[in-house]
Amino acid sequence: MPSDATTKSSRKILVTSALPYANGSIHIGHLVEYIQTDIWVRFQKMRAHSCHYVCADDTHGTPIMLRAEQEGITPEALIERVHGEHFKDFSDFAIEFDNYHSTHSDENRELSQDIYRRLDKAGLITKRTIEQLYDPEKEMFLSDRFIKGGCPKCREPDQYGDSCEKCGATYAPTDLIKPYSALSGATPVTKESEHHFFQLGECEAFLKEWLNPEGDAAPLQLEAANKMNEWFEAGLRDWDISRDAPYFGFEIPDAPGKFLYVWLDAPVGYMASFKNLCEKEGLDFDSYWQPGSDAELYHFIGKDILYFHALFWPATLKYAGYRTPTKICVHGFLTVDGQKMSKSRGTFIMARTYLDHLNPEYLRYYFAAKLSDRVEDIDLNLEDFTARVNSNLIGKYINIASRSAGFISKRFDGQLAATLDDDGAKLVAEIQAQAEQIAARFEARQFSEAMREIMALADQANEYVSDKAPWVMAKAEGQEQPLHQVCTAIINAFRVLTIYLKPVLPGLAAEVEAFLNIEPLQWSDVDGLLTDHTINKYKHLMKRIEQPQIDAMLEASAATLQQTRPSPTRHGEAQQTESQQKKRKVAKAETTTPDNRAGHAVNDEIDNTIQFDDFAKIDLRIARIVKADHIEGADKLLQLTLDIGEEKTRNVFAGIKSAYSPAELTGKLTVMVANLAPRKMRFGLSEGMVLAAGPGGKELWILEPHEGAQPGMKVK
Ligand SMILES: [Zn+2]
Repeated sequence: MPSDATTKSSRKILVTSALPYANGSIHIGHLVEYIQTDIWVRFQKMRAHSCHYVCADDTHGTPIMLRAEQEGITPEALIERVHGEHFKDFSDFAIEFDNYHSTHSDENRELSQDIYRRLDKAGLITKRTIEQLYDPEKEMFLSDRFIKGGCPKCREPDQYGDSCEKCGATYAPTDLIKPYSALSGATPVTKESEHHFFQLGECEAFLKEWLNPEGDAAPLQLEAANKMNEWFEAGLRDWDISRDAPYFGFEIPDAPGKFLYVWLDAPVGYMASFKNLCEKEGLDFDSYWQPGSDAELYHFIGKDILYFHALFWPATLKYAGYRTPTKICVHGFLTVDGQKMSKSRGTFIMARTYLDHLNPEYLRYYFAAKLSDRVEDIDLNLEDFTARVNSNLIGKYINIASRSAGFISKRFDGQLAATLDDDGAKLVAEIQAQAEQIAARFEARQFSEAMREIMALADQANEYVSDKAPWVMAKAEGQEQPLHQVCTAIINAFRVLTIYLKPVLPGLAAEVEAFLNIEPLQWSDVDGLLTDHTINKYKHLMKRIEQPQIDAMLEASAATLQQTRPSPTRHGEAQQTESQQKKRKVAKAETTTPDNRAGHAVNDEIDNTIQFDDFAKIDLRIARIVKADHIEGADKLLQLTLDIGEEKTRNVFAGIKSAYSPAELTGKLTVMVANLAPRKMRFGLSEGMVLAAGPGGKELWILEPHEGAQPGMKVK
């Protein structure tokens, strides 16, 4: 049902997508968010609201500085080049920003430094001296990822400063055997430095109040709000917002040699991009950003950066004297064929590689058909992708026009009839009657529901075409007028469906508008009929996807990635983009967020084939985690008490302490190996094993069944 918001006459809306990092190319995983946002924005614009969509490249930080250095160019030259590439990729996917700016801009410098001053004045900045490893040759402080050495647990050489890629151990960089700088090879020394901290804990009462509204007014989806409550329970820590020179970023006012950490100025980049737009178009910046503003502010983000957007960002805005976001719309990650995007399978697909082989609107449609308002991962199943585009988009929707347009041009000189037949009028009215329902779906970001409803209407239209069989009428004597009316009804049904699909398929809609010889369609054009009107000759609107195109894209994708030169910040995870890498790394270092699981590679080869009998020997059961506890003296293990429907609970020690806190696990369902021989361990007897995926350290995810599974059920 339409909410108040959808029916309000004209809204002032400002929308952002997360800023891509200027150190790598856009891939189809990124595009989930930009396509989702763009569809929503196009819908708002079609509804005649004032809606502005701004974004920018995120340009600051050590990885950019080092990459520019390695390429022998200035950071400014690097970010300018990447800005051009990003903008072209987005444009070619029909992502239509009102402004695509850069965080390395005058507007952003002024706003960021001013916000820092205001936070300082509000008493929220504190300074503390901390000890950090320092590269005496490069003369710079090193974050964990720039320090290497031997793993203190398994002694594997050349491991990074926070975790071992071989055994999965996590540790402090100071624990490494013979640590060295990944930048110069020098032995790091410990050095003190004064850092500036934002006291997030002071903002807790405000954040809880901001989070409080429910229903349509809730700023976060339920899943995200629950995550916030976990963070509140864990306690909000001070946020280190300063970095020492050399650093590519903005200086902290009155603190020579200190720079604002990139995660402080990146979200301010939303404001800066909008400010730049205001200057170009004469919009009133303050009326959007002052407290109590009547404008709505929406940030679309991935779940990996929720911590920054739902805690730091509203707090920063509030205490710097600005309004806070209306909603933060969080989406999940993209998998391809049910797995993380993989270089070896060619499924780590860059935006440009996709564009070289396939129509961008196929992907826009497919993502729309998969996206909901929930924080859940979506899967690009390539077989399903081909099937859905071919059967729904072309077989159902495009087919409606192609089955009638020829008669209009050949038999009636392109002229539509003045009236429809009764059945035709009824069909068009039924399609029109769904307009507000479909609008409410778009407004609520329930795009998959919208696509389902639109395709059901297309089915209705196709039934009408089959019932009337214009190709039979065309051969019969004296059927001129009925044929004319039927074909006109079909064109009208097609016109209304085009309005519903236009936010998703803007390019196709423009071609339909040209074919129908009409002005660009708005949502309000749903009502009314196109009669007594001359249309243009029908040209084929969209081709089917053929399997060789998909194969060629996957091949090219694998080849492109092999040529990609790893940047100096890379650490063996070549298929991860720098942007993801940076965000993941940052989350690791600065926050307690446990879900920073951006695009890791699946490098493990599939094991040798086994027979079903071998598999059947393993008794897997659904288990409820009744209790999870820390164990005194254990670095890696948690003690789990599991209910698998037996009289007694099971005791299991699981090596997941690096990734989970007991509170996160209690009450959850998981899967356990119930017939594994009990094993005597230092802390007691372990009576089975729980299943988890991931390389180790923070990157471990235990399995969780879908809702409805009960403890003790056999997994088979
Ligand atoms: Zn190790």
